[in-house]
Order: sequence, then structure tokens, then C-alpha cells
Amino acid sequence: MRYCHHIDGRAQPPAGGAWLDVMDPANGRAFAQVAAGDADDVERAIQAASRAFSAWSALPNTERARWLEKLADAVEARLQDFAHAESRDAGKPMRLVREIEIPRAISNLRFFAHAATQFASESHHGQAGLNYTLRQPLGVVATISPWNLPLYLLTWKIAPALAAGNTVVAKPSEITPVTATMLAELATEIGLPTGVFNVVHGMGPAAGEPLVGHPAIRAVSFTGSTSVGRRIAAIAAPQLKKLSLELGGKNPTLVFADVDWRAHLDTIVRSAFQNAGQICLCGSRILIERRIYHEFRDAFVERAHALRVGDPIDEDNQMGPLVSKPHFDKVVSAIQRARDEGGKVLCGGVALDRPGWFITPTVIEGLGPDCASNREEIFGPVATLQAFDNDDEALALANCGDYGLAASVWTRDLDRAHRFAAQLRVGMVWINTWMQRDLRTPFGGSGASGLGREGGFEVMRFFTEPKNVGIHLG
Ligand code: NAD
Repeated sequence: MRYCHHIDGRAQPPAGGAWLDVMDPANGRAFAQVAAGDADDVERAIQAASRAFSAWSALPNTERARWLEKLADAVEARLQDFAHAESRDAGKPMRLVREIEIPRAISNLRFFAHAATQFASESHHGQAGLNYTLRQPLGVVATISPWNLPLYLLTWKIAPALAAGNTVVAKPSEITPVTATMLAELATEIGLPTGVFNVVHGMGPAAGEPLVGHPAIRAVSFTGSTSVGRRIAAIAAPQLKKLSLELGGKNPTLVFADVDWRAHLDTIVRSAFQNAGQICLCGSRILIERRIYHEFRDAFVERAHALRVGDPIDEDNQMGPLVSKPHFDKVVSAIQRARDEGGKVLCGGVALDRPGWFITPTVIEGLGPDCASNREEIFGPVATLQAFDNDDEALALANCGDYGLAASVWTRDLDRAHRFAAQLRVGMVWINTWMQRDLRTPFGGSGASGLGREGGFEVMRFFTEPKNVGIHLG
């Protein structure tokens, strides 16, 4: 099986003739190949998108909304195929993709179909006259997305970009190219005008960099690691392109003694280990009020240890493998580093004795806030535990480090909840819940976690250029 680029409404092989293996993380074997794109493929895709722009941007927004709805319907009709493909490509538990991630990708398409018709611009009436602001599409925009939520994060970007009237060249992760290709094929099947949505596959430096640096690209929406985010910013900034960067995280989970933590334990465990910890929003630093520390630790470890790890296609398994061999090696060495730093591994920390890249849920205690294990993103099924004595200490621990993506706070004290919500240095705070999604809310982080926000009208503003018109009223 070979996954081609999708340019100008049809499958196109790589200009340079090179292909990359696509691996099944559950058995470590290649099951397909994907086009290894380069600057020539990027050029072809940008030309197609440029040709498509004037007609697409001139459509009434209700028409663009209809196309997105149609695409959503088409994915929904093939939900099982998409779920199966995503599960194999990314090693995700079948239930997680079928019940949560693919339905959320469909919701992204539907939500932004509606956003296209609800998006409004501002007007200002004053003594000097009337001002109104046009919000016009930018032109051809680039989206670059990671492997951890392949279809979900791709649609999270392309749906608002298209809804706002732009045409898109998307570069999905070379590690998980399958569902992006399926989506592009569906776009052609439903008759989406050619060139409106293009997919170029390939490695970051070979395909991503020419895309970011191309003068015709007006904005870059990127989700991925902080180091690549910095590289993209370095290429895009001199050209003064609009940039949205959703980057890594090292999110704290704060558990206070006043909360009925046993009632929330399932969610807290899930927040650490869902998708084998490979979600930017996972809570990887669990901070626990000292007087419940031992009780909480033992219950948390017991629950983590009980998670069923194995073949993601098997409906009974709750956790699958890590996505790739290099990522597996990175997580294994992070666990070794935690041991070297003096951490005590309370459970997990071992690879399953079977083909594929499985690591059991790992809980580590005994490491302070300055250890690399508590500062650097691991992005795997690894959580550390730290105790705190009071609110000030909890806040200092939570705010420690360069990242600032998300936090969850577990307390029944309303004053404390609001105080922490205001003082935590992150883009998103959840109180007594985790990953409660509402697509209207601003999504993103600060510091090393990124720049700008996605979601709702925030992202519609990102994908449009405001132009103010001032009128003299006599
Ligand atoms: P990555 O940065 O290695 O790759 C992401 C994408 O960028 C891929 O498509 C890749 O091919 C491309 N890329 C790599 N080098 C490039 C370059 N030089 N120029 C242009 N493109 C390039 O990230 P990953 O390993 O795929 O994903 C994991 C990371 O993503 C984690 O750090 C995680 O926290 C982060 N993430 C963040 C969010 C968020 O919303 N903040 C969501 C999901 C994942």
C-alpha cells in the first residue's frame, strides 16, 4: 500500500520518487509506504491552492459551510474505517478512536461549518464617524500537524482555515499519514473544488520547511514539539507570516486533601495515561497535598498498574504502544534518567515482552521540581508524584518550568479554585475535571507551550486579515 500526496484533487506520487515506510507500532513492522515529499511537491500543492483561492474565497460562507458539513457526513459514514486506520497507524486503542477521537474530528468539521456562518466582525460608531472591520481570508495557508491525534488535530486546523475562505496545504506527520490521505480522498469524492485542500506528505526538513518558507504561504498553523516550533518561527518570522504555535507541555495535576479524590481517581489516572500519555494535555506531574500523599499514591499506583496494555485493536485493552521506535527509545531513556536522578519507580517502567513498542504505565516518586524528569516533556505513560504542604508551595511547584499549557486542580474550596485558576501560568485550567472540551473556547498555551490560540472565533480571527473601513458621517 502506498499513500500518495493529494494535490489538485487527485493522488500524486512524490516528484523525487522517494518513499518512507509507515510502521505499525503494535508489531514494529512496516505495513505501507508514504510519499517522501520535497520542495517540488510543495510547489505543486501551493500552485494548486493558489489557483483555487479566488473561487473558494468568493463563495458565500453558507456554501463553504455546506462543503464542510458534506465532508463531515462522508467521514461519519466511514467512521469504522477511519477508526481502524487510526488505531493501526498510531497504535491507539480502538475504543478511544471510535468513540472519542474520530467523532471529535467530525465535530471539528461541523463546528467550523457553523462558525463560518456565525463569525461576525466589529463596527465602531463614534463622533468621527463609523468604522467597520472586514475579516477577509488570507490566501493559501499551511497546516503542520503531529502524530498523536492525527485526524483530530488536522481537522482542528483545516476546518477553520477553509471556513474562513482560505485554501490549504496540509502536511501531516510522516509517522501517521493514513487518515489525512483518507480525508483528502473523501474531499475529492464529495466533489470539493480541486486545489482547495491539498495534502503533502514527508519529513519536516524536506517537506515542512519549504512549505513554511514559501513566499505564497500567508500563515502557518503548527502543532508539535517546542524545538520544531522554534525552527518554524525562525523561518517564518523574517517573512512576517502569521504564526500559530501549539507546542509541548509538562502539565501539573493538583490534588488537595479536601476533595473526594477517590471519586475522581479514574479521571485523574486517565489524565495521566490516556493514549499512553501521548496527549499534550496529559497531566504528567501529579502534585498531592502531603496529608493524603501516601493514601493517594497507593491508590493511584494500583489503578495505573491495573490498566490493560496490549494490542490496540483488541477492544479490551486500555493502552496501546508508543507511536514509533525512536519515541519508545526516548521514553525508555527518560525513565532511566529518572532512576539516575534518584527517582523511585513505583510501577511500570518496563517494556512489554512482545513485538511492538509497549511500555507499562509508570509512576515515579522522590524527584524534586528541578530534576529534568519534572521539567522536560516525556510524552509517554510516565507520571511523577510530588507532595506539597500548603497552597503557596503547590502554586510554586505547578508554575515551575518553562511550559505553560494546561493544569487541573482538584479541590472543593471555591476560593482556592478561583485563586489557582487566576495564578496558574498556563493557557487552560480545569477544576475538578480534565480535558473538558468546548470548541468555542480559546485553546493553547504560553511560554514554551506556544504562541496564539486555536478554537472558536480565536482561530477564525487567526485565519483572516482584519481590514478597517472608516466612513465620515456628515
Ligand atoms: P514534531 O515537532 O516532531 O512534528 C510535528 C510536525 O512537524 C510533523 O508533521 C513533522 O513532520 C513536522 N516537522 C518536523 N520538523 C519540521 C521542520 N523542521 N519544519 C517544518 N515541519 C517540521 O512533533 P511530534 O513528535 O509529531 O508531536 C509531539 C509533540 O507535539 C509533543 O511535543 C506534544 O506536546 C506536541 N503537541 C502539542 C499540542 C498542543 O496543542 N499544544 C497538541 C498535540 C501535540
